[in-house]
This record gives sequence, structure tokens and C-alpha cells, in this order.
Amino acid sequence: MSRVVAVVGGGISGLAAARVLAGARLASPELRTGSGRQDGRPDIEIVLLESDDRLGGKILSGEFRGRSVDFGPDNFLTRNQSVTELCDQLGIGDDLVAPATSSASVVARGRLHPLPAGLILGLPPDLVALARSRIVSGRGLARAALDLLALGAPISASSLGLSPEQAANGHTGEGAAGARDPGGPEWSAASILETRLGRELVERLVDPLLGGINAGGLDQLSLVVVAPQVARALVGHRSVTRALRLLARSTPKPSTSVSAKPRPFFLGMRGGLGRMVDALVADLRDRGVQLKTGTAVTALRHARDRYELETANGTIVADGVVLAAPGYVAARLLVDEAPAAAAELGSIPHSSVSLVTLAWPSDAISGLPQGSGFLVPRCEGRIVTGCSFLSSKWPDSASAGEVVVRASTGRYGDERPSSMSDEELVDAVLVELRELIGASVPPLASLVRRWPRAFPQYLPGHLRKIERARAALSELPALKLAGPSLGGIGVPACLTTGERAAVEVRDRLSQ
Ligand SMILES: Cc1cc2nc3c(=O)[nH]c(=O)nc-3n(C[C@H](O)[C@H](O)[C@H](O)COP(=O)(O)OP(=O)(O)OC[C@H]3O[C@@H](n4cnc5c(N)ncnc54)[C@H](O)[C@@H]3O)c2cc1C
Repeated sequence: MSRVVAVVGGGISGLAAARVLAGARLASPELRTGSGRQDGRPDIEIVLLESDDRLGGKILSGEFRGRSVDFGPDNFLTRNQSVTELCDQLGIGDDLVAPATSSASVVARGRLHPLPAGLILGLPPDLVALARSRIVSGRGLARAALDLLALGAPISASSLGLSPEQAANGHTGEGAAGARDPGGPEWSAASILETRLGRELVERLVDPLLGGINAGGLDQLSLVVVAPQVARALVGHRSVTRALRLLARSTPKPSTSVSAKPRPFFLGMRGGLGRMVDALVADLRDRGVQLKTGTAVTALRHARDRYELETANGTIVADGVVLAAPGYVAARLLVDEAPAAAAELGSIPHSSVSLVTLAWPSDAISGLPQGSGFLVPRCEGRIVTGCSFLSSKWPDSASAGEVVVRASTGRYGDERPSSMSDEELVDAVLVELRELIGASVPPLASLVRRWPRAFPQYLPGHLRKIERARAALSELPALKLAGPSLGGIGVPACLTTGERAAVEVRDRLSQ
């Protein structure tokens, strides 16, 4: 008799989970060993339940001034090769493109300053390049240089939330279950870095980059979640800068061309990342997966080894479940059957982001700098947190003679955009863009896209929280979690969580 698996949530995590359950080859290299090895078509019926009327979740491409642009992610890191491999499997690998430019700037004292070369997730191994960038003051630079004297105690694994085993074997989060407790409180990323490098450097350079990716602030983020390789590289070192230099030497240099080896650090998709969702959905249909959009799951019950998922369109009975909806939705669904897991997931805070896409005639912008965009430190107090120059990054996204930019607003602790109307938000953004890039005439068009509660905030202790949630879920066989709440906001990381959950459910059902 065939078994039924319900996948809740049709973003990349859920779509990837459904595809593996339907017998596709794994795209995540790290899962291709161990229990997930055997591919092939198992006897499983898959039903994917999505509350929205479209699939893709945060991945959304659409039309703006007659061109395709992304209103969610527009590129992804290639370090985890899951997305590139998936695109190859879907036959769209040749449409992956590197951004035409990847250099960026940061706002300091009201002006844009190009980022120094060689940064590692916003951290500078090269203080001379930092000095030339003029992002920090002479005093801030001198304070950062003190780090080279290596005067403090070595950075301990426990302050990073790592057990000695995790620090030694490189495992964090996923797959780290069972490791000894670190034996002390985890410090925030800002506390660890400011102690060594000083506040100004962290506030003006590292926070806008590393905090910005997560729409949060480093004083509230876990370094081991937002920059795991950096966190591990710091263990046992007295100087952050020296540890970064060692890390830089062991990291392959990026390429700017998609055909060159090694791959570029970032890739996007010609025509927008939404094309990956379209190809994935077509593939799932071919594999016989039932895709039910407009079908929110409102309750989940577990009885006699089966799950009942309540939706507005009726009840789905399943032998296994992948919960790939946001963590706060999973928390609501688990509240009766696994209250301890629900409490852990429900306590993860989220930040909301609103994007404003704008177009001008090219000659109307007097100060558009080279590069892909700029970031804004929180201490500047502006509403814009960053701005992507879409027409510079992806030349196909704008008609000839037009400039298209996408301003981001909103981050953890700054809810101003959520309380503004679209019109007020566009006006507030325009005031700042006039000053920063010289956009002094009204735009040809503007479009606001809101993403409420889109970014889970990985507070110090996040990985322990997820371990506790997982342990509390062990009473529910063949029910697994996927998505960014587990630790890792990027599309590749989410894809891997979906595939891992699918493998675990499939393995459990074949026992
Ligand atoms: C503006 C923005 C820019 C970003 N930029 C980048 C970037 O450049 N690079 C990068 O790698 N990442 C980026 N990210 C992050 C990345 O896009 C997301 O972390 C990732 O796409 C999340 O995928 P997911 O499938 O886990 O979750 P989601 O995409 O959130 O999908 C979850 C799905 O569950 C559905 N759902 C919710 N409740 C229910 C319910 N009760 N029943 C059924 N379905 C339900 C939702 O409708 C949604 O479709 C960005 C995110 C945003 C918002």
C-alpha cells in the first residue's frame, strides 16, 4: 500500500522536500552520503499544501517596467552547491548568471564609501585596505589595529556556543545533535567582535553586511549561525584579524564568470529566480506530486501513527509530514501534539522587510556609483537599510536608458516601514536616495513589496533551541522540520533543510 506524505509550505524548502520524496536525486552534496544515498521512485504519494495562491514563497519574480525583476532573493551564495546542482538537474543550469558587478559601498557620515577588498562576511583581514576605504575614523582604525597585538584571552568555543567537539569537527547546528553542551552562555556576534576590534568597526562595517543579510543586528545574532566558518576559525585565537588572514588563505578566490572554475561566489538567474520555481513546479507535476495552492493547514493531529492535517478544503490524512512553513506557523500547528517544540519554535523572533523598487531615466541620477549597491549602518538612523542597483547587477532587468534600483527597509528593532502606507514609504525612501545617489527627480515608476515576519532572528543560543525542538519532536515519528528557522537564511541552506527532512521522513517510512 502506498504511503502518503504531506509537505506543508511551497517555498524552496517544501518544493525541494517534495521532489526528493518523489524520487529525485538529491541536490545537496552534503546529503549524498549516509542514509540519503539511495535514489529512485519510492511508493509514496506526495501532497504539497500551500496557503498562498502561488508557489515559491519568498522567491518571487515579476514584471517591472516591462522587464523581469526579483522581488525576493535575486542571487544566492554558491558555497553550498545545492541550488546550482538543482538547476543543473532541472536543465536550467546554463541560465545561471553571475552579477555583472559585485563591488558595493557602505554609507558613512552621509556619503557612500566603496567596501575594502578582501572582506570575509564583512570582516576585514586587511587593515590597510580598511584605512583606504575611510569607512572608520582614525581612532576606530587604531582601535581595530590593537587586535593584532593579541592581548586578550583566546576566544573560547563556549563563548561562540560551540562544544569542544563541534569546534574541532566543524559541525554546527544540523548534524550537531548529541554534542556536549558548550558549558557557558553564548555571546552575541557583536560582543565577540567588539571586544577585539572595537565598536566603531563593527557598527560601521560588519553589522551592515552580516547583520544586514539577516535583517537584524549583530548585538542580537549568534555568530555561529550567521557566519559559521568565521566562528569556527576564531576558536582558540587571540586576534580576530590574524584568524581571518588564516581563513582567507584557505578560502578559494571568487570568480566573476559563470563558466570559470572555481564558480563565482554569487549567482542569479537570467529572467529572475522565479524561473527556478517554475522549472521545479513543472518537474513536480511530471513526478505526480499533488500541488494544492490556496490550502492553508490550520491544525495538525497525530493518532495511531498517522497525521490529520486540517485545511479549509478538507482533512488530509498522511503517514509522514514535512513542515516547511515558517517556524511560527509550525509552532501553531504543533501546539497540541508537541507543546515543548512549539514553545521553542514560537519564541524565535522575526523581522519584517519592505522592498521599494524604483526606475528613473539614466540621466536623471547624477551620483549612481559603480557597483551593485550600498548598505546602511543602523547608527545612521535612516529608513533605507540597503539599496541594490538592479540595472547594474543584472543589465537585462532594465530597458536601455533606464536605471532600476531596489531599496530595502525594515530590520529587527525598526518597524517604521510597517506603520507607513506604500506612498509614505516611497516618499521616505526618495528623500534618502536623493541625498545618497542624487535621484532628484520623481521616479518613472515605484513598486512596494512587503515581506512581513520574513527573517528569523538567530539569537545567541539558537542552535541549542533547535536541538531542544528536535528532541521534543522525537515523539512524532516521520514528522520533520525544514526552512530558515533551523539556522541559515539563504536559499541554498533552506533547500538543504528540505531535502534533509525528506530523506529522514522517507527513511522512517521505509523502516
Ligand atoms: C526580501 C528578501 C530577500 C532575500 N534575499 C536573499 C538572497 O539574496 N539570497 C538568499 O539566499 N536568500 C535571500 N532571502 C532569504 C530566502 O529567500 C528565504 O530564506 C527562503 O527563500 C525561504 O524559503 P522557505 O521555503 O524555507 O520559506 P518560504 O519561502 O517562506 O516558504 C514557506 C511557505 O509556507 C507557506 N505557508 C505559510 N503558512 C502556511 C500554512 N498554514 N499552510 C500551508 N502553507 C503555509 C507560505 O505561504 C510560503 O509559501 C531573502 C528573503 C527575502 C524576504
